[in-house]
Amino acid sequence: MHGEVLRTRQLTPTLVRLVLGGPGLHDFRAAEGTDAYVNVAIPPAGATYGPVFDPDEVKATRPREEWPARRRYTVRRWDEAARELTLDVVVHGDAGAAGPWARAARPGDVLVMTGPSAGYRPDPDAAWHLLVGDESALPAIAATLEALPAGARAVVRLVCDGPEHEVPLESAAEVDLLWLHRSPDQPTPLPDAVEALDFPAGRVHAFVHGEADEIRAIRRHLLTERGLTRADMSCSPYWRRTMTDEAWRAVKKEFVAAMDADA
Ligand SMILES: Cc1cc2nc3c(=O)[nH]c(=O)nc-3n(C[C@H](O)[C@H](O)[C@H](O)COP(=O)(O)OP(=O)(O)OC[C@H]3O[C@@H](n4cnc5c(N)ncnc54)[C@H](O)[C@@H]3O)c2cc1C
Repeated sequence: MHGEVLRTRQLTPTLVRLVLGGPGLHDFRAAEGTDAYVNVAIPPAGATYGPVFDPDEVKATRPREEWPARRRYTVRRWDEAARELTLDVVVHGDAGAAGPWARAARPGDVLVMTGPSAGYRPDPDAAWHLLVGDESALPAIAATLEALPAGARAVVRLVCDGPEHEVPLESAAEVDLLWLHRSPDQPTPLPDAVEALDFPAGRVHAFVHGEADEIRAIRRHLLTERGLTRADMSCSPYWRRTMTDEAWRAVKKEFVAAMDADA
């Protein structure tokens, strides 16, 4: 499956919106869940195949240096009528495969992908929803807020680099939203912000996705000090500071096992 870039938009200094469409998305089917994601495949510079290719076939028939980089991106929106897929991609400097690809993307460029899959949907029976994350989790949190009905309640804590990195969020729910800004003194303010929360009464359903070490600290706090059960939360370490996605995937299983053993 592949999408053709129809248009791009710079949402913030570090967040690029890609809207994809075209006949290559003919087989795309929405996944149940507000954190649905696709697995994209980005060929290295100078690849002699493409732009449309089968990632498994490339892996089976070509040397490793020609293999595409695999990355996961959240379905920010799937417009069934227009058959348009929106992805919001963090561009974190010149590093990486997906960030630079998104920054350079122009109409007509092709993005090969598989999926989507999903793991989380806000529980309609929860008394309230806790949504915590960084820019990488913003697409899922924005989609979740849009899915919550009037009468639902959400407490949202998001981290970014400053006011110009904030994006407007829409919801029919009652939302307590706070944007936290990284600073040299406090580069990772999310865990403290969650610890400082006065929890509303009733059962919470939590969504905590983003940088691995921050997610692990918040998960531990929620389980050991707030009395949540594992079933009350979706915690996913999307990426890890200082590691490429390849390096992260190589140690992720071990990290998740250690995180699981925390509480
Ligand atoms: C299920 C799932 C859904 C995801 N959805 C989204 C999404 O919708 N949008 C999105 O932007 N990301 C999303 N991510 C995270 C994204 O896949 C990773 O951030 C990925 O590593 C980016 O690839 P890259 O090629 O740009 O950088 P890489 O080559 O993987 O990394 C290069 C360097 O950049 C650093 N880096 C990676 N990501 C970030 C970041 N977000 N901020 C700062 N530094 C970073 C790495 O630590 C490394 O030092 C999702 C991840 C998962 C598992």
